[in-house]
Amino acid sequence: MSPETIADPETDPRATYAVDPALARRLVRRVVAGPRATTVTTYAPFTGSPLAVLPVSTPDDVLVAVDAARAAQRGWAGRPLADRARPFLVLHDLVLDHQGELLDLVQLECGKARAHGFEEVADIAIVSRHYARRASQYLRPRRRQGAFPVLSSTHELRHPKGVVGIIAPWNYPLTLAVTDAVAALIAGNAVVLKPDTQTALTALRALELLTEAGVPEGLVQVVLGEGEVVGAALVDAVDYVCFTGSTATGRTVAAQAGRRLVGASLELGGKNALYVAADADLDRAAEGAVRACFASAGQLCISSERMLLHEDVADAFLARFLPRVEAMRLGTSLDYSVDCGSLVSKRQLDVVTAHVEDARARGARVLAGGRARPDVGPLFYEPTVLDGVTTDMTCYAEETFGPVVSVYRVSSDDEAVARANEGDYGLSASIWTRDVDRGRRIGARIKAGTVNVNEAYAAAWASVGAPMGGMRSSGVGRRHGAEGITRFTEGQNITVQRGIGFGAPFGLDAEQWAGALTVGLKIMKRAGVR
Ligand code: NAD
Repeated sequence: MSPETIADPETDPRATYAVDPALARRLVRRVVAGPRATTVTTYAPFTGSPLAVLPVSTPDDVLVAVDAARAAQRGWAGRPLADRARPFLVLHDLVLDHQGELLDLVQLECGKARAHGFEEVADIAIVSRHYARRASQYLRPRRRQGAFPVLSSTHELRHPKGVVGIIAPWNYPLTLAVTDAVAALIAGNAVVLKPDTQTALTALRALELLTEAGVPEGLVQVVLGEGEVVGAALVDAVDYVCFTGSTATGRTVAAQAGRRLVGASLELGGKNALYVAADADLDRAAEGAVRACFASAGQLCISSERMLLHEDVADAFLARFLPRVEAMRLGTSLDYSVDCGSLVSKRQLDVVTAHVEDARARGARVLAGGRARPDVGPLFYEPTVLDGVTTDMTCYAEETFGPVVSVYRVSSDDEAVARANEGDYGLSASIWTRDVDRGRRIGARIKAGTVNVNEAYAAAWASVGAPMGGMRSSGVGRRHGAEGITRFTEGQNITVQRGIGFGAPFGLDAEQWAGALTVGLKIMKRAGVR
């Protein structure tokens, strides 16, 4: 397998967008694929030029990967939890120390602006620190209330599932390859990861860092290939599925996992609302809304595609928001000088273009942006703000997953809540108000798994002690917090019964015993037993 970089550093300025061939060669060796594997070429979104040639795993390779992971898992699960947690404090430092090269890879494969790549670096550090230090609390054996006080002694144990299959999309390729794996590994599992092929090198470099941090070789395996083939084979072979991607694919994965009766958590799409209340700090809201709508060029599951503006402040807000949008710097630099990067693929560009053209054709007004920018790069699209979007337009309810937001005016908090709750999704929301209690109250009425008050999306995302995920069609299960790690375990109840058991004692017949138990239950309730 010879990964290739096409641009010639001597003659072609696009060479700055190439991956070091030695690095690519080293990384692809970690993919589980046979010696005669077919290959696939990935292309740099910034330039459209070829980036790397990657091996494609087969369903048989998936079985090889799962078997190897299973073999490594036995020894790993037998280690004390403190030993399993230790590598992740090392990973915390490694990721921060190697951020330059990681960000280069993320940008090359995914096309995002560097600042949005840094969110991924920070996320890995935060999640690694959190679970390395908190897992023992989340997973320790717990004494639980037994059936009879004193007589029944009950303990809850947490056992690893075994081999966890992680299927990840391309949009946050670094963090989505690593953070769920952190929790799964500390819980005592092995992991087989199927990243999106477009962003495989990022995932593979992250895997190298995991190994350098002290995670045993073999415990994390990587397979690559088409989702319908390799992803499906993985779902068929693992003990638990951790899927992040579109709602449509999530339904397929859930059905397949359901047929096998293995658990699955599903982090899916959204059509997230941002509400600017009448008392919002409008400058702060405008700055936050730019990030909320256009981070990673809108290719962020928790970014805002609907902006609900209280009518009393809508014009004043837009007067602050639109100039900020128009001033955004689009570009391909591998530094922090750019505000908005590229879309990842022709498919994404086509969807974004179709949504905007459909809205325009049906009467929406373009307040900012509204066109592709091939002069910057083949897949760039301007940050776009639409007004007058109606229910018949595709972008009203469908996830665009691009730099496009629609503006709606509302006359009250109640109307904002009702509009935010329209549609099937329920992933994230952002509320801007000077009255934080009011923000919390509004947030509790919005059917979304995470709500940020006076922040775009990052505050709730980075607050990893609490669960994060989607309600309704945006997902099943949660990452982060206790749920984010216990999902990778089987709960077990071990109860020791002493003295009197559940059968009738002392020669009592069944009716007399039922009578005695009835008295006992009443006494337990009166005594406050929980
Ligand atoms: P996608 O569903 O097309 O693909 C996601 C992953 O699933 C890829 O690795 C793909 O190869 C694999 N896959 C595809 N078909 C499969 C199948 N039948 N069986 C198993 N695996 C299969 O999603 P995408 O377009 O790559 O990603 C964008 C979507 O992901 C958006 O909808 C976005 O909102 C969502 N997303 C959600 C979160 C979250 O945390 N909720 C985070 C990031 C992205």
